[in-house]
Amino acid sequence: MSLFLGEALECVLGKETAITMAKDEAKASDFSKGLLQSEELYKYILETSVYPREPEALKELRSVTHNYPMANMAIAPDAGKLMEMLLNLVNARKTIEVGVFTGYSLLLTALTLPEDGKVIAIDVNRSTYEIGLPVIKKAGVEHKIDFRESEALPVLDELLNHEENEGGFDFAFVDADKVSYWNYHERLMRLIKVGGIIVYDNTLWGGSVAEPDSSTPEGKREGKKAILELNKKLSADKRVQISQVALGDGITICRRLY
Ligand code: SAH
Ligand code: CA
Repeated sequence: MSLFLGEALECVLGKETAITMAKDEAKASDFSKGLLQSEELYKYILETSVYPREPEALKELRSVTHNYPMANMAIAPDAGKLMEMLLNLVNARKTIEVGVFTGYSLLLTALTLPEDGKVIAIDVNRSTYEIGLPVIKKAGVEHKIDFRESEALPVLDELLNHEENEGGFDFAFVDADKVSYWNYHERLMRLIKVGGIIVYDNTLWGGSVAEPDSSTPEGKREGKKAILELNKKLSADKRVQISQVALGDGITICRRLY
């Protein structure tokens, strides 16, 4: 639903109905960005094990985001569940997020971290973060977020200027400009502790990684090239254990081994 259509619907139908419609449509768009080929099966997964356990604040953030352009950049709610589990498995207390957008994965992280936990969240664009910020504040977790409006690379390099940050983080989620992923990986491999986890989003790039370039739209080819290189390099990187999961747009989980 476009921003304008969303607003128009709100005027005509009232806010509650418009939000319900936005939620219904969210389900459809969640499917369209996934790699799973059965819409019924995806709906089953969401309705059985994702939506019933999705905190109200995250539902609200999804609903708020839905009315903005490029809403489908947010991670899929089922991918969010995996992320939540990984954060818990490593008892994450200090984390890094590269690519915030309106904050779905960020709010999920902040809700999962303990009271004294901290997430350094980096995005070149503060205005999209501000769309979700009221929901984050209402959820009472803003104090766990250290938002930096910046290109990610200089922030990661700055963190590395302080020796105490080497191995100082438990978890990182990378969901920004694909061409920089490998540069992020080199920095994050020093910032994340041994046994810690780095998650990369969009590593199957809409399934295009397994298609000839002629089938990939022009605008997606640069990202595809970067993702293909990343996947090859991660596969050869002995410093990490990896698991590539065909969830959402493809997620690669890396655990630092040494
Ligand atoms: N994780 C988010 C979605 C992120 S979308 C969610 O779950 O909703 C990708 C984001 O990366 C965009 O907000 C974009 O502004 C940001 N981004 C793109 N290039 C970047 C860069 N070089 N440094 C930091 N952020 C960047
Ligand atoms: Ca993404």
